[in-house]
Amino acid sequence: MNIVTKIGVLVAGGLAISLLVQVFYAFPQIRSREFELQRVQNLTEANSIASEIKDFQDSIHYELEMLAMMPEIKSMDVKQQKEILFLTAHTSPRFDTVYIGIADSNGRVTSLESRNQAVISSKSEALGMDISDRDYFKFCRYIGETYYSDPFEESVFDLIVVTIATPIKGDDESVVGVLFAGIPLEAVTSIIESRHLDETESVYIVDRKGSVIAHSEKYLTQLLGKPLSLDYSDYTVVQDLVDGRSGVGEYEYDGETYVACYMVIEPSGWGVVFQEPLSVLVAKSYVMTNFLLGINAAVFVAAVLVSLLFARRVTNPLRKLAEYAGTVERGDYTTELEVKGSDEIADVTSAIKSMVKQMVAMQEEELAAIVNSMRDGLIVLDQNERVTRLNPYMEQMLGVRAVEVVNKSIAELKEDPRLRPLARLAETESPDDEVVLTQPYERVLKVHSSTLKSGANKDVGEVKVILDVTQERELDQMKSDFIANTSHELRTPLHSIRGFVKLILDGKVPDTETQREFLSIVDEQSEHLSNLVSSILDTAAMESGETVFEMQPVSMNEVIAKVVVKLRKIGDDKEIAVEAGLPGTLPPIEGDAEKLEQVITNLVHNAIKFSPKGNKVHVAARAENNSVLVQVIDHGIGISAAAIPHVFEKFFKVHGSMPWASSGTGLGLYIVKQIVEAHGGEIWVESKLNEGSTFSFKLPLSHGNRAKQQQGG
Ligand code: ADP
Repeated sequence: MNIVTKIGVLVAGGLAISLLVQVFYAFPQIRSREFELQRVQNLTEANSIASEIKDFQDSIHYELEMLAMMPEIKSMDVKQQKEILFLTAHTSPRFDTVYIGIADSNGRVTSLESRNQAVISSKSEALGMDISDRDYFKFCRYIGETYYSDPFEESVFDLIVVTIATPIKGDDESVVGVLFAGIPLEAVTSIIESRHLDETESVYIVDRKGSVIAHSEKYLTQLLGKPLSLDYSDYTVVQDLVDGRSGVGEYEYDGETYVACYMVIEPSGWGVVFQEPLSVLVAKSYVMTNFLLGINAAVFVAAVLVSLLFARRVTNPLRKLAEYAGTVERGDYTTELEVKGSDEIADVTSAIKSMVKQMVAMQEEELAAIVNSMRDGLIVLDQNERVTRLNPYMEQMLGVRAVEVVNKSIAELKEDPRLRPLARLAETESPDDEVVLTQPYERVLKVHSSTLKSGANKDVGEVKVILDVTQERELDQMKSDFIANTSHELRTPLHSIRGFVKLILDGKVPDTETQREFLSIVDEQSEHLSNLVSSILDTAAMESGETVFEMQPVSMNEVIAKVVVKLRKIGDDKEIAVEAGLPGTLPPIEGDAEKLEQVITNLVHNAIKFSPKGNKVHVAARAENNSVLVQVIDHGIGISAAAIPHVFEKFFKVHGSMPWASSGTGLGLYIVKQIVEAHGGEIWVESKLNEGSTFSFKLPLSHGNRAKQQQGG
């Protein structure tokens, strides 16, 4: 469940609880009060109708009593009485339908006045009429008090009326006549009609016997004939009224329960009943609760909507934050995170943003450190084959700067001749490729390519690691050259050994003298072979770095003297004098005495070898500028200018075809040069064809001796 739903459910739940409390606790109370209020309203209405009728009756009663006290009425002078009655009937607002009349003490009507048309039209008949048998007349004439009659039909006027009568007393208090007012029931009906009743409300007036005088449902009196034909006297509420009690009661009628509020109207003893079905009262009492329920529902919906809206406002940035975290988790740091507003979420958002930024910076720093310290070249391309990174080693290797190539595509790189080598490296396709660059000098570069994957395992580019394998390739080349050369060199003496041995074995050389000669060649060749092999071994050891130099102070005087003694024998054989011209003292150099002896031996041996009989070989040495210079000088065949640059190369023999050179390996000078250079020295040759050669080499003095030499020199 997400936060929005949770908040929605929370708000809805809270409101639902509040609603339940209202429905089960507050609403019933409100409803019962509403119901009470409705009943009180109905009771008030009944009371108000009763008062109105009572006022109406009282005002007529009062009018009658006022008239009865007037001397003109008391005088029983018909003419005067008529005038007064006429005036009253035509001016008093009460008498619009009501008629007023006077009967003498015998019950004969002497005067009658009214504005009521029905009465006016039958007035002549009424005058002189005998009313002595009427209750109201009898009561006033003989009891001497005001009387309210029950409704009865006054046949003269064809009206149902109620009569209020009051006695007219003479000065001696004797009753001299009766003053009466006839009130048509229409007047009472019109009071009810003037009330604005709801459709469900009904009102009726009963007389003191329980007959209906007027009913708001007019049709009831009209359908069933005249008023009074409806007799409600056996209704419980009407019975109460008949008994002179007011109140509120319920009764069943036609399957419906009615609530009736009833009031006795004194002094006439009539009753007003205001009734309404219970269901309507109950329904009315629901109005308030329904209204409240409606408001609740509206508030419920509004609150849930507002809370959802609000929750969405809160969760939207959170959702964005979660999405962002997801992309970062997948290794994509390029997505921008927007910080909106200034609330707590905005604070968290900007904190995360700067955290990621820092993280990226740290990663970048670490990556840069690794890349910059790499001793191999590195090129990174993006998925559009644009250069995104070039490490310093690569910059150095190609003589270009990263800033001038970053963001350039391979095609763009190709346009600039200076950047073309980079383009060639960048466009290699196989995972391991070799590229030979000729500019600025020849190099063999090995390119390892691999696809760059993002955290989501998406191809985002390519990484190329470039190794300079020029030296390895050269070494490889040297090795194969060496093997080819040595096998060639070895084959020649072996060939000749086998040839001579085979001749002897096959018995093709019968005389012992020739056999001896051949065998001495075999001996010579095998010695040469052995020299060759040891030279090859020396060379191989030297080249592979296996040769160990035991450095110590060495006196070149001693080394040279030793070699001269050793080789004098060989010189003698060729009648070549080997001489040494050495100074009295020579500062020692730092070196390996045995290896240096080999150097001088080789040089002197070559000098003897390449000098004709009777010549001289001179070995000289002297200290010179922090070093010792040694020279081996001969006056032999010399070396051509063209051959001089090559004499120190492996297997090089200037006079390969000459017989005296056949014993040579072509490795002697190569080994000599290697040893001299291993001592930090240098070697060179000066030679002229047929005049002789001078091989010179210089060895640096040992540290301590260098200082001394400087002081001395
Ligand atoms: P080798 O074993 O053939 O003497 P070196 O490497 O010692 O091989 O010499 C290489 C070649 O240089 C020789 O074959 C020779 O042709 C030439 N050379 C060396 N020393 C002399 C010299 N003193 N006079 C003339 N040529 C020489």
